[in-house]
Parts: sequence; structure tokens; C-alpha cells
Amino acid sequence: MFLKKIKSLENSLLFRLTVLYTLAFTLLAIIGFGVFYYQVYVATMDRIDEDLLENEIEYYSAYLARSGLEGLKKRLIEDAEPEDPQEEFYRIIDFNGNVLAVSDMSAWGPVDITDVVLKLKRNEINHIVQTITLADGDGKARMITAVIGSDIILQIGETLEEADEYLEIFRNLFAILTGILIIASTFIGWYLAKRALRDMADVTQTAEEISRGSYDRRVELKGQFKEIEKLGRTFNAMLDRIQILLRSMKEINDNIAHDLRSPLARIRGIAEMTLTDEKSINDYKDMAVNTIEECDSLIEMINTMLDITEAEAGVNGSTDEEFNIVAVIKEACELFRPIADEKGIELTYSLPDNLPFIGSKKKMQRIVTNILENAIKYTPERGRVAVSAKSENGQIRIVFNDTGVGISDDDLPHIFERFYRCDRSRPQGGVGLGLSLAKAYTDAMNGFISVTSSVKKGSTFELSFVQ
Ligand code: ADP
Repeated sequence: MFLKKIKSLENSLLFRLTVLYTLAFTLLAIIGFGVFYYQVYVATMDRIDEDLLENEIEYYSAYLARSGLEGLKKRLIEDAEPEDPQEEFYRIIDFNGNVLAVSDMSAWGPVDITDVVLKLKRNEINHIVQTITLADGDGKARMITAVIGSDIILQIGETLEEADEYLEIFRNLFAILTGILIIASTFIGWYLAKRALRDMADVTQTAEEISRGSYDRRVELKGQFKEIEKLGRTFNAMLDRIQILLRSMKEINDNIAHDLRSPLARIRGIAEMTLTDEKSINDYKDMAVNTIEECDSLIEMINTMLDITEAEAGVNGSTDEEFNIVAVIKEACELFRPIADEKGIELTYSLPDNLPFIGSKKKMQRIVTNILENAIKYTPERGRVAVSAKSENGQIRIVFNDTGVGISDDDLPHIFERFYRCDRSRPQGGVGLGLSLAKAYTDAMNGFISVTSSVKKGSTFELSFVQ
């Protein structure tokens, strides 16, 4: 149970981030305090050494010069007397290590002379400062050994008890400060990690709500940490996309329910009729032809629906290329010219030589042919259809003008909807997908499609694309 709890804590990001933060902070604090303490320690030792050298050694060597060895011995005994023998000692020795005079050293234990005398002799220096451990093992002293006359060495020892008490204040202070810092850094680390993770939790919660069916939920962007805000933004963009896909899937379902049923019912009707009466071979042939025609239009309808859905969902079916829009319009006009001629419609265009554009040529061809086909389809005999295109302020504008039946104000807002047909009784009407596809493709190429129309007078479709 306890082990399990520890294991789950170990796996918690909050716990790990907090521990990491605390460790980093503590380590930095220890390094900082360590450096500071070392400097205080060095300064303290320097001060003691300076005191030993300048106040004691210099004073006694001057005394020796003035009063001779015997005078110095007397002076030292006098000076040592009022002092606590545990705190200070004096010793005069010669270069052979013979002790010429010494204060009470009972508390100090044996303090070796030979080594230091040898060093003084060999290195030809006139003083050495050392830190020694006292005989009882728990106390340290600073000891100076200096040559003060010919063959006369003075050694003075001073306990570091006082300095140690002073340094201990620092050690305690640093320990307390480190403790406070550890506690403070744990809280700060925990708070920061918690804040970052709370923002993450928002993303997780949104994901959970979405998995329960609330597809319109979004992560609230409210000045979180930069990285988490970016995650939230990306997550929201992904959700927008998914929602578009879901919506178009739903629309497809609705469309299948409404509009694919009738051709299927017609095919079934044809088959049923074939079975009911005795028919001639020609009747059977007609029925087969009808069935094939219905199937073809059904397949075309399904393909167009898939094309629309793909374009709306942002699935790029074709690659972008540079092409001349003028050539696309001319080709479409020539394609429909025989039908226009047949209806006595005057089909004209006014185009510049070249309108270069980068995008999907295939999509542009479908847009232009769908609008042009409608213009000819819904314009009565001896009417006029005119196409023009130009480049204006960095935009390409293509205008299709017809003198056709026009679209009523009631129908106008709906003509780009799937399967919307204005007057279903019109003989020339298709399945109502042509303009939906034109709009989906125009949107996919960041273009804009608009229409103005007047019943019985004609319609104007306008496309604009950023060049
Ligand atoms: P359809 O296959 O029926 O032509 P569209 O999506 O191409 O479907 O057009 C939708 C409806 O908009 C058409 O049914 C038609 O009534 C109307 N429409 C489209 N273009 C024109 C036009 N140039 N003149 C008059 N009506 C039009």
C-alpha cells in the first residue's frame, strides 16, 4: 500500500518537478553559502596571522634586539603569567631544536619542533604559520614559528576557540538559511509546477469532455505558460477541424437520406416494372438503358458529394501549379459553345491575354464550367451570356453575366447549399450540387464567390481570388 503510494508519487510530474526544483535551489544555496563561508574563514585566519606576526613577533624581536635573550625570556614569562595557559603558549628555541624558554604547555601536549625548524632552515624563510590540533583532539590552534635573532626562534600558539565561536555563528546562520530556503523552494517549486500542470489539466479536462460527446468544448486560452498555450491552441485548431469533418459527415448522412433515395427508388421502380408485365425485348432494352442512366447520375452525384466534402474538410486532392486563368475560361466557353449555339445564345467573353494564378487548375476548371453551364442552362433561347475577367488591386475578378430566368430573393441565400434547387419543376435543373462544389472549391483556394440576380432579367456570378 505504502510502496504503491510512493511508486505513484514517483510517476507524478508534479512531485518530480517539485523535487527537481528544490534540489536545484538547495544545491545553489549550498554552493553560494560555501563560497561565502570560505571567504569569511580565510579572512578570519588572515586577521589572526596578521595579529600574531605584527603585534607579537615584531614586538618581541624588537624587545630581543633591545634587551637581549635573557631580557626577552623574562619578558615572556611575565607576559604569559596572567594569560590562560590553555589559550596561548610561548617557546624560544634554537636552530638545533633546543628549548631555551617555554611557558606552561601542559594543556597543549607535545608540539613537535624538529619539523618546523628544519623547514625554516631549509627554505631560508623567517616565519611559518600552521594550524595544529590540540592534544585533547577537539580544538585547534594557530601557531607561528619565526626567526627573531641569530639562532633564536620564537614560537607562539593561540587557540582558535574564539574564532571558531565566531565562525560557528556563520555556520548556524547558513544552516538555518539553507533550511528556510529548502522549505521555501519546495513551496515555490510545488506552486510553479502546480500552475503549469493546472493549465495542462485544463487541456486534459477538455479532451475528456470531448470524449464524452461535447464536441463544441474548447481549451480556454488565458495567458498560460507559452508552451501550454501553444498546446491549447493546436488542440483547439484540431478540434475545429474534427468538428468540420463531423458536420460534413452528418450532412452527407442527411443528404444520403434525402437525395440518394429517390434515384434508388426510381431504379427499383424500373426493375419492378420489368418483372410485373410481359414486355417486349425493346422494352427490356429501354429499361436497361434507363437503369444505366440512373446509375450514372447516381455515381456522378456521389462523386461530386465526395469532392465537396474533401474540399470542405481541407483535404487537398490536387497539387498547386501556376496556370493561366484566361486559358481555362476560354476552354470552358469553347466547350459550351455548341450548346449555346444550339439554343441561339450569344456567348461572348472579354479577357486579357494572361492572368497567371497559382492554385489547383482542376478545381478552377470545375468552378468555371459549373457556373457557365448554369448560365447557359438557365438562359432561354436567344439570350446572352458574357464572361469577363481582369486583375485589379492584386485580385483576379471573373464575372459571369446572363440574361436568364434569374433567382428570386427567397432562393438566393440558399443556392450554394447542397442539393438546393430553386424551382424543382424546371426541366433543365440538375441535382443541385454544381454551385455547392463551385463554392467549396473557391473557398479551398481562398477565393470568394458572390451572386446578384433579378427574376426574369438575369444573374451575375462573380469570383475573386488573391493573385
Ligand atoms: P443544379 O444542378 O440544379 O443546376 P446548382 O447547384 O448548380 O444546381 O444550382 C442551384 C440552383 O441555383 C439551380 O437549381 C438553379 O435554380 C439556380 N441557378 C444556378 N445558376 C443559375 C443561373 N445562372 N440563373 C438562374 N438560376 C440559377
